[in-house]
Order: sequence, then C-alpha cells, then structure tokens
Amino acid sequence: MNKEYRGVWVFAEQRDGHLQKVSLELIGKGREIADKLGEKLTAVLLGYEVQNLTNSLISHGADEVILVDNVLLKNYTTDAYAKVLCDLINERKPEIMFIGASYIGRDLGPRVAGRLKTGLTADCTSLDIDQETGNLLMTRPAFGGNLMATIECPDHRPQMSTVRPGVFNVPCADEKRTGKVEVVATDLKEEEIRTKVEKIVKSLKDKIDITEAEVIVSGGRGVGNKEGFALIKELAEILGGVVGASRAAVDSGWVEKDYQVGQTGKTVRPKLYIACGISGAIQHLAGMQESDYIIAINKDDSAPIMSVADLAVVGDLYKVIPEMIKEIKAQ
Ligand code: FAD
Repeated sequence: MNKEYRGVWVFAEQRDGHLQKVSLELIGKGREIADKLGEKLTAVLLGYEVQNLTNSLISHGADEVILVDNVLLKNYTTDAYAKVLCDLINERKPEIMFIGASYIGRDLGPRVAGRLKTGLTADCTSLDIDQETGNLLMTRPAFGGNLMATIECPDHRPQMSTVRPGVFNVPCADEKRTGKVEVVATDLKEEEIRTKVEKIVKSLKDKIDITEAEVIVSGGRGVGNKEGFALIKELAEILGGVVGASRAAVDSGWVEKDYQVGQTGKTVRPKLYIACGISGAIQHLAGMQESDYIIAINKDDSAPIMSVADLAVVGDLYKVIPEMIKEIKAQ
C-alpha cells in the first residue's frame, strides 16, 4: 500500500445548488469503506454559492468537506471541474476517489483519471476492501452484463471508481454530527475553460429520473403493446409515481430506454415497486430487488418475480390494474 496516499474522497455532485442523491449514497458507502481502513471521509464540493450544502454532507457521514466556491464553477464544464479536482488530488493525495456515474460523473471521472495517470473502474455496482491488501475491490457488470467483474487497482493511486446511482442506500442524516468545512481557493482562469454554457434549456420531454422515484409501476412484455402502457402510466400517476419497464418492453419499442430497470438499465430502490407482466429474469431483479415493497401482477403464479414479491397478485393485469385504480380513486 502506498502510504503517501490517505483517506477516502467522494465527489459531491450538485446541480443548480441541489446535491444529487448518488452523492449521498456514496457518502454512506464511503463512510463504511473509510471506517474499514481507519481513514477520514472527505466530501469535495465544487460550485458557486453552495456553502449551504456542506451541512448535509457532514450530517450524512463526511468527516470534512473541501469546498471550492467560484463563479467559474457555477455550471459544470469538463475543463473547470477536472482542473480543480486534479489540483486538489495532486496536492492532498487521497487513496480513494468515488464519483457518481451520472452524466457529469461519467464525463469527469475518466478525464481526471487520465490526467492523474491512474485507473478508473466505471459504473460500479458494489465496493469493498480486500482484507489482505487493503486495496479497493470494485465490482461492475462486464461483457454486456453477462458476468460481474471485480477489479483492483494495485499499483496506482488514487483508486477511482464511478458508481451507479441507486445501488447504495442514502444513510440517515444525523444533525448532531460535526465536521470541518475547508474553503479552498482555486487559480482557475476563464481562458482555461474551452466551453461556455450560454444557457440551460430544460428538456422539452417530460423526462423523469426513475432512480429518484419513490413509487415505480413497471410494465413488461405481458403488457402486450405500446398502448397498454397508458394503463401502467395511469396507475403510476394515481400513486404519485413514475413508469418503469423491463428490457423486453424497451426492446419492443413500447417505452424509452431511460425507463429500463435492470442490469443494463437503471438500478432503482423505491418505496413501492409494482411489476406488471414482468417474469422476473435475473437481469431485471438485479435492478429492483432492493425496493422496500414489491407487488407483482402476473398471470403465472410460478413466474420468478412472484418469489421476490411481498405481495403476489395472480391475474391478468388488464383486469387487476383497473380494479386497483377504481379502489384507489374511491378512497
Ligand atoms: P417475459 O420474460 O416474456 O415475461 C412476461 C411476463 O408477463 C410472463 O411472466 C407472463 O406470465 C406475464 N404476462 C403475460 N401476459 C400477462 C397479462 N395479461 N397479465 C399479467 N401477466 C402477464 N431485462 C431487464 O428487464 N432489464 C435489464 O437491464 C436486462 N439486461 C439484460 C442483460 C443481459 C446481458 C441479458 C442477456 C438480458 C438482459 N435482460 C434484461 C433481459 C432479461 O433476461 C429478460 O429477457 C427480460 O427481463 C424479460 O422481460 P419481461 O419480464 O418483460 O418478459
């Protein structure tokens, strides 16, 4: 182990002054890893006028926050964020760096790792420490999701990984926790940033991030056609939730890929997951079996989804869902 490098860092991603859920998930996992190594957990927060977010990072488990608050960091740009993060890492030498595998993290992580000439394991779904070597064990799907690969980075530091949103729990906040906030200046200059954000236009499509949803009603091949998803959507909306889908439904062109749950889709952990006409293939279960409460609606009582469901409803979804909607509306 290279003793020059110490501590576990989490990149605390914020957008428009809001912390991304994946960053708090990583604070939770980072805390566990830091405790195993007997090291400090540091959150690194970049942005402009984001000081108010530091309390949340500490109450969720960080020992300290390094805050770089600068108008040039207001909106994410690869040049600015990569420079500031690389400068901090070069100066302070963390042993481990975790970044959420969001669209920002997937851009930032490889750029930073490349500049630091270290390795990066992208899109991890599990993290642990090798008891013998103290190295980080980073697990991710490989070969199109057909096997899970556990990767180590024995010779380079920091050990870096981007981690899928939704695979770890957000830890409970403890408002009594205290920690240090260190405000660090940067010598970043405007001319170093090769891209300019002129304006941010919200997506015209009513896109929802299913990893953030508390209720998901998912449809599979059993829905039968695109039009059938109107019923799935109706149930989702009445429950204040969002629509999800199996890969079969996505591959059939009934639902966009953004809504796919599973190994090659998104990992979700809602309070309520309703699987309608989904058989429960292992690749689907991998993305949803940590949901708090699972209801499965399926014609086949021996479908694998029924054995992970808290409530298994055997029946035709076209009969069961309208009944559910009627009952909910009546309450
Ligand atoms: P099916 O398996 O065909 O099941 C349909 C179910 O609907 C059946 O159980 C049937 O009894 C029921 N049904 C039919 N009609 C009705 C009705 N009227 N009412 C109630 N029930 C009804 N899949 C994913 O979902 N996500 C992934 O990320 C993913 N990644 C994969 C990665 C790899 C490398 C591979 C090889 C596969 C992956 N898959 C993934 C595909 C997965 O193996 C399954 O093929 C897929 O999940 C099946 O989708 P399904 O359950 O909708 O369809």
